[in-house]
Amino acid sequence: MWHRLIFASIRNSLPYVRFKSAKKAIQRAIKLPRYLGSEYRCPICGVGLRAFKPIWRSHTRKVEQFGYVYRHAELETFNREAFSCPKCDASDRDRLMAIFLDGVLPSLTKSGGIRLTDFAPTDPLSRKISRNPSIEYRTADLYRIDVQDRIDLTDISYPDESTDIFICSHMFEHIPMTAKRCGSSTYFEARRIRTGAGADRRRRR
Ligand SMILES: [Zn+2]
Repeated sequence: MWHRLIFASIRNSLPYVRFKSAKKAIQRAIKLPRYLGSEYRCPICGVGLRAFKPIWRSHTRKVEQFGYVYRHAELETFNREAFSCPKCDASDRDRLMAIFLDGVLPSLTKSGGIRLTDFAPTDPLSRKISRNPSIEYRTADLYRIDVQDRIDLTDISYPDESTDIFICSHMFEHIPMTAKRCGSSTYFEARRIRTGAGADRRRRR
């Protein structure tokens, strides 16, 4: 029993999380040459590729074994055949977000720096955003230990209008329905912390 607790505490420690991340980066670097080419470019790390990596094999095996709640054609940003970047590990969802941010950030940062909060950040997108000197970037999550702020999306501890942009992708489906319906709902909380969201704050009251 005690050895399980020790192992669990090691697995949940920041050094272990960082070690695992570094190990995966080395494994990707070793396999990268087989993907290099000029047909595609990753919008996050900029590498030229002949193909992105397909989804991991165990996912495909489990879908075949248990089925999937949605048909593949119904999914958005879940390209199983071209899922992740072999260099930076960005998923197709990360890459789409990066293209969107590349389009809107230049005009938003033209007149000065902006504050961007990323809920449940992914490493590739996080690294890209962190490199932008015009962005005051914060990361937040309810459970993860490798973020700056421990945040419950149904009761966010940030003050009103404390961020200019927030990223909250594929999060709402994880919020219990009771929390979605209560007064301090995730939607209003997220709107409350964003600058220029006064109309929504009035509705909340
Ligand atoms: Zn990449």
